[in-house]
Amino acid sequence: MPKAIDMHVHLPTASFLDGALKPFKEPAEAFFRSKVPVREMDEVARLYEELDIVAVLLAWDAETATGLPPLTNDEVAEVVKKYPKQFVGFACVDPWKGKPAVDEMERAITELGLIGAKFHPGIQAFYPNDKQFYPLYEKITELGVPALFHTGTNGLGAGTPGGMGVRLDYTRPIYLDHVAADFPELTIIGAHPAWPWHDEMLAIIGHKSNVFMDLSGWSPKYVPKAIMDEARTRLQDRILFGSDYPFIMPQRWLADFDSMEGFSSEVRQKILHDNAARLLKIA
Ligand SMILES: [Zn+2]
Repeated sequence: MPKAIDMHVHLPTASFLDGALKPFKEPAEAFFRSKVPVREMDEVARLYEELDIVAVLLAWDAETATGLPPLTNDEVAEVVKKYPKQFVGFACVDPWKGKPAVDEMERAITELGLIGAKFHPGIQAFYPNDKQFYPLYEKITELGVPALFHTGTNGLGAGTPGGMGVRLDYTRPIYLDHVAADFPELTIIGAHPAWPWHDEMLAIIGHKSNVFMDLSGWSPKYVPKAIMDEARTRLQDRILFGSDYPFIMPQRWLADFDSMEGFSSEVRQKILHDNAARLLKIA
């Protein structure tokens, strides 16, 4: 059993940083206050092996909204195949691509062996509760895998005039509440602490048992206190570790989490590993 499962890992490859994210990279580096160099996945696999962490690798396709090339499900699947002990993968499709996106989601899960779906409503520019995308959620529900949605503000476009056209309200958690209500069999994970709507997110998790959140993108030290209080107590089975590598290094996240008081070793184990293992059906 690994020490932890990192729910939120981007590929620091040229295909992602200089492709799918290209114009967003520099502002994101400024927002996270760290340079993000291109790396080979062999190096990433070694890092995660040393840390004894299984990483959930995320594909990316926001082509309709951004005009940028996707980081494909095939590329993620290839890396997972090469390092099956270190990595699992979540598929991404562009919801605006319609029926082909539904078919691609099915192919990515059943043929490529990816084990979840990832969406970024902010960059993909869609409201998750828009019924035109429901065939996609029907398919993901039928496939029996979780769907991860970015929530809260965004490092991409941050600090630029007009935020590079990215609208924040797409990533309000309340739209996921509608999806969770209409798809009670679908496991929904809100990525990141959902700031400034973290109370809204906590209300949803408290109300709907098919909704979870990961803590990626923020050091635990800066995660709003309301979330950490729930993570220690009432919602300890529903909150998961994620780093947002390469923007935040997992070793830094873990060190900051270690230094936080008030978490029993049992609760730490749930947040770092057990909750994710249960959702992803991995050991
Ligand atoms: Zn991310």
